[in-house]
Amino acid sequence: MKFKQDFFTQLPEFYAQVYPQGISNPHWLAWSEDAAKLIDLQQPTDALLQGLSGNAAVEGASYYAQVYSGHQFGGYTPRLGDGRSIILGEALGPQGAWDVALKGGGPTPYSRHGDGRAVMRSAVREFLVSEALHHLDVPTTRALAVIGSDMPVWRESQETAAITVRLARSHIRFGHFEFFCHSERGQADKLTQLLNFTLKQHYPHLSCDLAGYKAWFLQVVQDTAKLIAHWQAIGFAHGVMNTDNMSILGDSFDFGPFAFLDTFQEDFICNHSDPEGRYAFGQQPGIGLWNLQRLAQALTPVIPSDDLIAALNQYQHALVQHYLMLMRAKLGLAARANSTAEQDQQDLELIGGFTVLMEKNQLDYSNTWRRFGQLDPSSAHSSLRDDFIDLKEFDAWYQTYQARLGKVADIEAWQQARNSVNPKYILRNYLAQEAIIAVEEGNLAPLERLHQVLRQPFAEQVEHEDLAKRPPDWGQGLIMSCSS
Ligand code: AMP
Ligand code: MG
Repeated sequence: MKFKQDFFTQLPEFYAQVYPQGISNPHWLAWSEDAAKLIDLQQPTDALLQGLSGNAAVEGASYYAQVYSGHQFGGYTPRLGDGRSIILGEALGPQGAWDVALKGGGPTPYSRHGDGRAVMRSAVREFLVSEALHHLDVPTTRALAVIGSDMPVWRESQETAAITVRLARSHIRFGHFEFFCHSERGQADKLTQLLNFTLKQHYPHLSCDLAGYKAWFLQVVQDTAKLIAHWQAIGFAHGVMNTDNMSILGDSFDFGPFAFLDTFQEDFICNHSDPEGRYAFGQQPGIGLWNLQRLAQALTPVIPSDDLIAALNQYQHALVQHYLMLMRAKLGLAARANSTAEQDQQDLELIGGFTVLMEKNQLDYSNTWRRFGQLDPSSAHSSLRDDFIDLKEFDAWYQTYQARLGKVADIEAWQQARNSVNPKYILRNYLAQEAIIAVEEGNLAPLERLHQVLRQPFAEQVEHEDLAKRPPDWGQGLIMSCSS
């Protein structure tokens, strides 16, 4: 790995230097060839294993934990920081640089009462979801590998420690800006320093002045809106949308008790620690805005409120437009260039009408969409019909749909296009769980198979058909614990 160390050298007051403590008997549990290419790595070598487990120094690495704060479940925590993630620096690759972080690398000055470690199940889940989202075309941080160990760690019971090697275009979070606004009150110079760094690294076309800052914030609003539109379209619930888990670049970031929807349920809660459903699936668009408002508040020392508000006002439009684009593609509706507000509203009603029907009939979100790939949209008798109990309701919806769809010239091409946007394979919680149980028993094969299948979520892969099934009884609506 070749590193540059821009964050480390340019922002010395924004982190604590800290070295990983190493783990016993490190071994590869998973490795992503796709992520490796991003930083010019070829093979999971022994030297790399020792380096990334923290047992040996990695040449050129700097080792630091960043400081930030954040709103957690609505309340402000003035100091968080990387409690168990140690960044090695920005590794250079063919298409740019990627922060390399050892998540679970050991305690840092920000660990508070934690042990700085991650348990195997959460490391594996972070790896799998990073791969799954990326191959579903959803912006996300990446994962290079999972390293297992025989080091015991205590959660509700004894488990073993593991490390996810995370790659991120940036680790800068909304919470970084909050920290330098609220916790280091009066230090507008630091806020500006962080802002200038962010712009120079990631928005080189923008100038480091008020015009640039305004354009940048609008970009953050739009990127966040697009990210959440993606989550809603693909049926992904993040689970812990605290502002310290929001990437400034609009990547899916910091995974815990996330879930892809099985049965469609608008108010689905995947996080055991969120009984009120603050982060329920259907709440995500509103929370995205709430989080952006917290970011805007933190930026008031450097950007006038009116400009911040003007940018925030773009959020809903950006989100709806992106969502419409993604959902029109799922349904096979022609994109509408320059559509009117009335047309958009009609399409939103058509989409919403279908998800309401899905919910009423307790249908599987992804598998139902996938069935559009076999649909003959010119036929009055829809092959989807048998999935619905109230046929009158379905027929009414289908009629409206057909009228909006119009004539499809090439049905086969239309069906193929549906299969290229409606995935067959998603990372269902029960599949992750099965892979994790196998890893606990020393069998890596199910994890490897699941990983490989998720690299081509839109392909048929008939020999892996079982991985596209709805969960068995034990795996339905699994609610994951926050402990990780
Ligand atoms: P998360 O919910 O994973 O985003 O974590 C919230 C905060 O708790 C972050 O500052 C983490 O670094 C910290 N944290 C979570 N788990 C641990 C742990 N086992 N040891 C130390 N810090 C932790
Ligand atoms: Mg976090």
